[in-house]
Amino acid sequence: MKGLKGKTALITGASSGIGQAIAVRLAQEGCNIAINYRKNPEGAEDTEEQAMQKACGQAEECGVQSLLVQGDVSQEEDIVNVISATVDKFGGLDILINNAGIQTEQASHEVSTDEFDRVINVNLRGAYLCARETIKHFLAQNRPGVIINVSSVHEVIPRPSYISYSISKGGMGNMTKTLALEYANRGIRINAIAPGATITPINDAWTHDPEQKAIVESHIPMGRAGTSEEMAAAVAFLVSDEATYITGQTLFIDGGLTLYADFREAWSA
Ligand code: NAD
Repeated sequence: MKGLKGKTALITGASSGIGQAIAVRLAQEGCNIAINYRKNPEGAEDTEEQAMQKACGQAEECGVQSLLVQGDVSQEEDIVNVISATVDKFGGLDILINNAGIQTEQASHEVSTDEFDRVINVNLRGAYLCARETIKHFLAQNRPGVIINVSSVHEVIPRPSYISYSISKGGMGNMTKTLALEYANRGIRINAIAPGATITPINDAWTHDPEQKAIVESHIPMGRAGTSEEMAAAVAFLVSDEATYITGQTLFIDGGLTLYADFREAWSA
């Protein structure tokens, strides 16, 4: 993809799933990558190994560098440290991928305040604080920059029993638009991707159970769940110079999930 070689990208929650695939893909495109993880250094090392393998193959040196950087995106102090560690190592930051996310399932009337806050603090407040600190850096250095928020189809589809998750992703959609509008005239683009059902550890509850998987996939017009690599491909496009006129958008990557499979056949005259 155009314009990615030599850029620096920070990916939050990159020790597994979609974040891992994005880190690997951006390294393959020639970006230096800062791999943020919260509590899984082995996963982060695995990301680094895969990324360097894709970027460099057997070559000893290929110009792509990586950094493992521990930090919890729900902690403001950690975010500031993660960003400054990235800037110190690579001399700047060009791309932020707000990927870290969690979900919990519970009837909405039974969710405790602490549990509600926990999800919002990672998925929405954490993403905003990472964006805020990154935008400060872009402006201070007078450099263009790109932010991608990893949202969800639940940015628009209500998700009963996942109230804090639904609110966080709905909020992320508006955050994407608001920040995009605010900084569009300063060379900063902000977009989101909205994955549909994707095979990653967050979905362990159904991805390893053929019956459950078939139920999930029956709601997807294309008839299958997505892969992390398919999400990463869209991110690579959106952060590249192939997408220089795109800002404030959420790109749904969902095999048609948001076309609603139940409406495939006419059900009313
Ligand atoms: P995942 O569980 O593999 O990835 C989430 C990552 O976030 C993990 O590496 C986890 O360690 C990290 N993380 C959690 N809390 C953190 C914190 N406080 N600080 C730093 N990192 C933290 O699952 P995934 O599917 O790859 O999820 C990635 C993103 O994609 C999430 O934002 C999720 O909501 C979104 N998403 C996933 C799907 C799907 O079907 N898998 C669908 C829509 C959206």
